[in-house]
Amino acid sequence: MTTAVAAPFRFFSLQVVRTRRLGPSLARVTLAGPDLSAFRSDGLDQSLSLFLPHPGQAEPAVPVELGDGWWQGWRELPEDVRAVMRSYTLRALRRDDEGHTAEIDVDFVLHGVEPGSGIQPGPAARWAADAAPGDRVLVLGPAVADNRAIRFRPPGDTDLVVIWGDETAVPAACAVVESLPAGTRARVWLEVPHAEDVQHLDTAADAEVTWLVRDADGGGPGASLAALRAAQLSPAEHPYVWLAGESGCVKQLRRHFVGERGVDRRRVTFVGYWRRGLTEEQLREQA
Ligand SMILES: Cc1cc2nc3c(=O)[nH]c(=O)nc-3n(C[C@H](O)[C@H](O)[C@H](O)COP(=O)(O)OP(=O)(O)OC[C@H]3O[C@@H](n4cnc5c(N)ncnc54)[C@H](O)[C@@H]3O)c2cc1C
Repeated sequence: MTTAVAAPFRFFSLQVVRTRRLGPSLARVTLAGPDLSAFRSDGLDQSLSLFLPHPGQAEPAVPVELGDGWWQGWRELPEDVRAVMRSYTLRALRRDDEGHTAEIDVDFVLHGVEPGSGIQPGPAARWAADAAPGDRVLVLGPAVADNRAIRFRPPGDTDLVVIWGDETAVPAACAVVESLPAGTRARVWLEVPHAEDVQHLDTAADAEVTWLVRDADGGGPGASLAALRAAQLSPAEHPYVWLAGESGCVKQLRRHFVGERGVDRRRVTFVGYWRRGLTEEQLREQA
């Protein structure tokens, strides 16, 4: 099987080495495999495409040739056979003694997996909930550390970093905040379903992190918008804003920063990580 696609991205054939529940809504899956030695990333909000097997399959079904034509080949496989393709974030990367990538962590939201949650579970959430050591996964990820699947790019003159993310963007936001250098001012809002989903964050930055708990705060898009509207962000001449999570919510918050606060739109990075009522395939078809 060839694994090279257009540089700087390529396919990595990996296996689950362990899993850990981080709270009621999130599970950490640690992946490893010999291929990883070629994996390079500067981290931050590095996104990856995961190819997951359907229940009952021993491995994700993908075309034998994973060169330039992989997308067409994957699309031509029957829908109920071809691997489930989903976007996730690199939460952490650990190197071996020689400096090669040895393990990566991906944190999955387990939406809809709890019985009676009233939310439709997706195949990726279900896969993560059942993941066990030895399970096989294919990852389309970076072989070059600085690559275009890293979107967090504050301009050099930034004097305040503002971050908002829901639970799907908690992995990206946490990785970003942990890597901010000392002296960086940051205001961070992270929205999660339950109090037990709140995580401890270590950072050298001067970061004020506020967790918005939907259970406790009555939550939803309204609660985040209200919290951000009420926030005093000054002094900030040159803020940089990063927003990721449910599309409708992200759009509303972007409007707040650009329209109500007058932040230059070029200084606002916003990414819809999912949209209520649509699967990732449906979202891709609309794009
Ligand atoms: C760049 C990028 C990075 C991302 N990083 C992460 C990450 O690190 N961790 C992570 O968990 N997710 C992440 N996501 C979001 C993830 O790709 C979506 O949540 C995806 O839809 C999950 O696939 P699924 O198979 O579980 O559900 P799908 O089959 O895609 O959707 C099934 C149903 O569930 C709904 N749904 C999807 N996500 C949620 C949710 N969180 N809560 C409630 N309902 C939902 C859909 O609207 C749909 O109705 C990222 C997305 C992008 C674009």
